[in-house]
Amino acid sequence: TPTAGNWRDAVRMPGTNEPSVSTGGTVVLRQLEMPTGTRSADRAVPHTGRSMVSLHLETDSGPFGRFSVYSAEANAFNEQRVPLLTAVAGQAALAIANAQLFEARTAQALTDPLTELSNRRALAQRLEEEMHRARRFDNQFSLLMIDIDHFKEFNDKHGHLLGDHVLKQVARTLRRHLRKVDTLARYGGEEFCVLLLRTPPQRALEVAEKLRRAVEKKTFARIRTDRRICITISIGLATLTPEMEDPNALVDAADAALYEAKRGGRNCTRSYAPPSEQVEGEGTQTAPPSTPRIESP
Ligand code: GH3
Ligand code: MG
Ligand code: MG
Repeated sequence: TPTAGNWRDAVRMPGTNEPSVSTGGTVVLRQLEMPTGTRSADRAVPHTGRSMVSLHLETDSGPFGRFSVYSAEANAFNEQRVPLLTAVAGQAALAIANAQLFEARTAQALTDPLTELSNRRALAQRLEEEMHRARRFDNQFSLLMIDIDHFKEFNDKHGHLLGDHVLKQVARTLRRHLRKVDTLARYGGEEFCVLLLRTPPQRALEVAEKLRRAVEKKTFARIRTDRRICITISIGLATLTPEMEDPNALVDAADAALYEAKRGGRNCTRSYAPPSEQVEGEGTQTAPPSTPRIESP
């Protein structure tokens, strides 16, 4: 009988000299007979027993787990039992591999492939959750809608490839200037959305301006050109109010503010003001970017 210390060398299949056996490419089997009460020297096998069988769960991309069965009996894993356990392990391997695949696909379905940010679908889920939470805990909750200025012109002038590169760089710049808890998503083509948790309007405005300035200052790396290419963004800001019944109301408010930022000359931030607070004709004002209009909540 092999001792526990050399169990790797002692691995064998009943009736064969093969150290391991592959079943259908998914499972590799190892077997060990141990003297009574021995504790395996292998840290991964902390149990005591007289025999054990260990089935390595594998997929095409490699091993990902181990299914081990121990018995107080010697020679417990005979020709009848081993195939049964192999079948069980095979099913387990398949189920786990499927679950992992499902998880990966779910993550993919919620991620924008170009920027690797959350996509609109993920944003919608998060927005719904955060809105409930903000209401429940009476937290302030702000949303930024960000749109790259004159991006159609940029594409026409520099090509779509460079446009894609800039989109990625803008995404990275925005991410770098946000907290981990803030959700940043690609809302659409050249539009991004930021959820600022527990953030009152004044603070949200500061964040928006920080983001706007960071993009404005950025020189886009790896662009082969002798001229410096500039990109600016316009930002619409809205903070959740009791009147906003669903997440769309908050998005619409930020969108309306973004529209005002575009009308205000672009490269600036505008905050949403409910219609009752708007002054006739005020929306047409083009306040300079450094002094964005902000309404009290
Ligand atoms: P504005 O300042 O008013 O926002 O002008 P704009 O040109 O940015 O706005 P418009 O909505 O007219 O055009 C958006 C452009 O964004 C059109 C499209 O070529 C570009 N765009 C959208 N998605 C992508 C993308 O994935 N890659 C690239 N390269 N361009 C994109
Ligand atoms: Mg747009
Ligand atoms: Mg645009």
